Amino acid sequence: MQETDVLVIGGGPAGYVAAIRAGQLGRTVTLVDRGDIGGTCLNHGCIPSKALIDAADDVHSIRNAEDRGIEADVAVDFDQLTQWKDRVVRKLTKGVEKLCKANGVTLQQGTARLVDDHRAEISNDGDIETVAFDHAIVATGSRPIELPGFSFDDEPILNAKAALDLEEVPDELVVVGGGYIGMELSTMFAKLGTDVTIVEMLDAPLPRYSDDLTRPVRKKADKLGMSFQFGRVAADWEQTGDGRIRITTEPAADDAGEDALERLTADKALIAVGRSPVSDTAGLDARGVEREDKGFVETDDLGRTNVDHVFATGDVAGEPMLAHEGSAAGVVAAETIAGAAPAPPRTVPSVVFTDPEIGTVGLTESEASEQGHEPTTGKFPFRASGRALTAGERDGFVKLVADAESGTLLGGEVVGPEASELIAEIGLAVEQELTLSDVATTVHAHPTLSEAIMEAADCALGHPIHTFDR
Ligand code: NAD
Repeated sequence: MQETDVLVIGGGPAGYVAAIRAGQLGRTVTLVDRGDIGGTCLNHGCIPSKALIDAADDVHSIRNAEDRGIEADVAVDFDQLTQWKDRVVRKLTKGVEKLCKANGVTLQQGTARLVDDHRAEISNDGDIETVAFDHAIVATGSRPIELPGFSFDDEPILNAKAALDLEEVPDELVVVGGGYIGMELSTMFAKLGTDVTIVEMLDAPLPRYSDDLTRPVRKKADKLGMSFQFGRVAADWEQTGDGRIRITTEPAADDAGEDALERLTADKALIAVGRSPVSDTAGLDARGVEREDKGFVETDDLGRTNVDHVFATGDVAGEPMLAHEGSAAGVVAAETIAGAAPAPPRTVPSVVFTDPEIGTVGLTESEASEQGHEPTTGKFPFRASGRALTAGERDGFVKLVADAESGTLLGGEVVGPEASELIAEIGLAVEQELTLSDVATTVHAHPTLSEAIMEAADCALGHPIHTFDR
């Protein structure tokens, strides 16, 4: 029987990072995954989507550069594009494998199930192996939620993984759910020429974000010809007979009757209405590991479940279901197991790769008030940024939230070019409890987008240089 100090179940960004960290701390580690190392993020989510989003951005910007004197007929060889995307994914999965091995982590293919307090069975293609462990870290991730009547087994009904594996750009696509996945992939396909309609049950896209942040995204979506049906849900679908599908939508509030039904035709429908935890495959219930109503494993700040030596990290342990949160939590779990004294992060940024991008970290202004602060804010628009204009961008802003009395940064929001990168500086400032003057007196290179963060701090302090519009 194989013996290991730490058994990590699931090789996504939460699991493999936990495994590497435990290996660095001198523990023997076995990392089991039934699929490819790297999990959903690397194989079927963050990485392939960003590869395609980036390529679609290139196509779109070249096609729309006449005012800069650039005129070009752009042809996209989608087959070649997807092959390149797959090569990027393979390169990264190979890299993760190498990193695991370099840190002494034993990789094992299969499905692991806890069979008693300190033993798990790993089944792979009919073979079953038992491994004894001291600690287990469950990092089994999440799966896309299926809508009743819309089975992912039906070829025209796509989840994000299938949408990223399409071999052709669809002419028409219905996207159900205007959240992270719905908006990112809709924007990407619209830039590649797809006619996209988004069906969202609430009355705005990206409902987790404020109107201020989503307004520039809506504006660009309109410009890209994306259509929205708000306050509606997808009720049913059927084949049209000519290889296409017809999707029936109805009001989200079911008080409107047959007249309120609408029909959309498309080549495919992408269902992106959220994800649910994969907490039913590793034998957790039988071991008494507590799960909450939606199935997420309950953990404390250090990733400990109610069962002493069983930890859980990443999507399976609940919101926010973000890869970088899972990785950070994986490090904390590994360090806790190794007897170190980890400091769980104060803040976790979130980023949406729409056009423009959105990045947020820490508290919003109203959250700051709710937590007893008297907040002060500073907002700098990208239309006043020289670097943004030279990149052909003028929409969006940086907003900082600080405690008025101490000046300590509490949070920030960016919507605009490179928001996904810019939010890191604000995250650093919030995590390290820097003040508005720390940020304002740090010289930022000119001309850069990051100057907008310094200027937003100046705005909050009441002495902006490059804007008079607060
Ligand atoms: P989501 O929760 O972001 O969005 C789901 C959307 O579907 C919501 O707007 C919701 O109102 C809507 N909805 C729910 N039921 C509906 C119905 N029946 N009809 C119409 N609309 C409906 O979920 P997602 O976009 O599927 O993403 C899943 C998870 O993946 C997210 O929790 C996120 O953490 C993660 N993710 C993150 C990123 C990123 O960090 N950039 C990108 C993609 C995915």
